[in-house]
Amino acid sequence: MASRLRVLVIGGVACGPKTASRLKRLLPDADVTMIEKGAIVSYGACGLPYYVEGLFPDVNMLTETPVGVSRTPIFFEKAKGFRVLTRTEALRIDSRGKTIRVRDLDTHGENDMPYDKLVIATGGSPLRPPIDGIDLNNVWYVRELQDAASLVESIEKLGLRKAVLIGAGYINMEMAEALVKKGLDVTVVEMFDQIMPQFLDPDMAMLVQKHLQAKGVRLALGEAVTAITGNGKVESIKTDKQAIPADLAIVAVGVRPNDRLARDAGLLCAPKGGIVINSYCQTSDPHIYAGGDCVVNHYVHPITGAPLYVPLGSTANKHGRTIANHIAGLTSPFCGITGTGVCKVFDFTVGRTGMSERLAQELNLDVETAVWSGPDMPHYLPGSKPLIIKMVASKRYRKLLGVQIVGMGDGSKRLDVAASAIFFGATLDQIGAIDLGYAPPYSPPIDPLATTAHVLLNKMNGIAKGIPPLAAKQIMDQQKDVILLDVRTPKEYDEMRLPDDRVVHIPLGALRERIQDLPKDRDILAFCKVSMRGYEAQRILNAAGFERVWFIEGGLVAWPFNVWTKN
Ligand SMILES: Cc1cc2nc3c(=O)[nH]c(=O)nc-3n(C[C@H](O)[C@H](O)[C@H](O)COP(=O)(O)OP(=O)(O)OC[C@H]3O[C@@H](n4cnc5c(N)ncnc54)[C@H](O)[C@@H]3O)c2cc1C
Repeated sequence: MASRLRVLVIGGVACGPKTASRLKRLLPDADVTMIEKGAIVSYGACGLPYYVEGLFPDVNMLTETPVGVSRTPIFFEKAKGFRVLTRTEALRIDSRGKTIRVRDLDTHGENDMPYDKLVIATGGSPLRPPIDGIDLNNVWYVRELQDAASLVESIEKLGLRKAVLIGAGYINMEMAEALVKKGLDVTVVEMFDQIMPQFLDPDMAMLVQKHLQAKGVRLALGEAVTAITGNGKVESIKTDKQAIPADLAIVAVGVRPNDRLARDAGLLCAPKGGIVINSYCQTSDPHIYAGGDCVVNHYVHPITGAPLYVPLGSTANKHGRTIANHIAGLTSPFCGITGTGVCKVFDFTVGRTGMSERLAQELNLDVETAVWSGPDMPHYLPGSKPLIIKMVASKRYRKLLGVQIVGMGDGSKRLDVAASAIFFGATLDQIGAIDLGYAPPYSPPIDPLATTAHVLLNKMNGIAKGIPPLAAKQIMDQQKDVILLDVRTPKEYDEMRLPDDRVVHIPLGALRERIQDLPKDRDILAFCKVSMRGYEAQRILNAAGFERVWFIEGGLVAWPFNVWTKN
């Protein structure tokens, strides 16, 4: 009788359990063991901010199946058929002898475990900035269940009230909301001059910043934390510009891949960290696989194929499936990532897929962009909410390269369509033509994503002369005599407007009659609420011989600077 295939999986949170569970479904006879140095396995770290916010009462619910069964080692043994060793650390890999050295963290006993196939799913570790005071009490990294549990307990028992969040990535955006909703005073400190610098272009980040500030979050952008001070516990966060009183700090400044085991075993790793894998998640040793936050992925889009480290649970699970498939003899490669991410920041959905404009510029790509804003469903429905979409496309190939979406409307479905379009290499024309479902409670007849593609095509075809908000602001700052043509109705104008003396208000319906009020020898920036009418004004003026006319993309809804409002 052939001996059973022995598979060892190191790491027990996302990629590890996914690999082991699928493998047992595909190869019921395989002898599969998962090794985890922590005490708890298979938990939803992504749910931690929502536990802190108080959306569910017990952090252990993150370890449960949808029907409330706890995913303990016994559960995995009984229900899934593989062995789980918790509090067991893999110390090193002997790839020649095909064994790993493990240590029982309770007894300190060590032994060698043989394998036929090894899976490294050791994840990533939060980066710890090398600053004084980082080890004081009341500094948290929200990574494991225990972190969130102790944070909530300390807030309640010690009455902690002033939180400083170090780093403005998506985890601290979610934590900002959670802590504000718990009644804390929240300041976010970020070294870059915008929030979510790896995720959003500045124009889109500024819209989220406005939203955060409206919700009471203080932002200290462009400030580097130099020290955390206090007598045994956090009392103040020092930046290069100020000292912020605090009684707790949350550090979320990035993740470093846990690739030490692989490096020590001589497996190929990227210079900046991360195990290098092929499309079946095999490392440079074909008997050793790796997946999840410990590997570098490949950016997938039609033009660049640069390696990218985007540690996400969505990818970790897909890697797990790919690994199990390949071990079981199914050839279904993992095609890489487009860097899709989405998060909730108070009432805003914030999402990104593909390439940002900034990255395109760094890579010297010839791209065109468009910012669109509008409702996610027809305005007459009470649930209609605004969305702002930014698209980046290759001028030469007219292919979609990247999309960023922010706003209160349903951005996640548009983001997922955009991710699919980029994944399959769609052109802008194809995106405009996808047969998407339409009924008023779900979208306008032409979906916002398709409309944004149309705006971009109109720009590329020289029909629409749109100018992005930041470029418009630059013109306003530099040109004293620029005309800001507001083409909204008098009612809209009464309620909200650009606080600028150069605004000329001519409703679109009156523009043809009053065209002689406008000079042809000055730059005109037309706008409305979302800039559909702004665009039409540009076309009307062009037809009347005005050449120096642009419309401000996204209108007032996408305007990241101050606007004057009646109330
Ligand atoms: C607060 C928060 C919110 C998040 N939200 C999202 C989200 O909304 N969407 C999303 O896609 N992702 C999100 N993520 C990221 C997601 O949780 C991770 O990408 C995912 O957990 C990675 O899974 P993994 O299995 O690769 O690694 P990990 O989850 O890091 O697990 C690796 C495990 O390996 C163990 N290990 C390491 N070395 C050894 C060793 N030598 N021996 C034994 N065991 C070892 C570790 O103890 C660890 O438990 C979030 C993360 C956090 C912290």
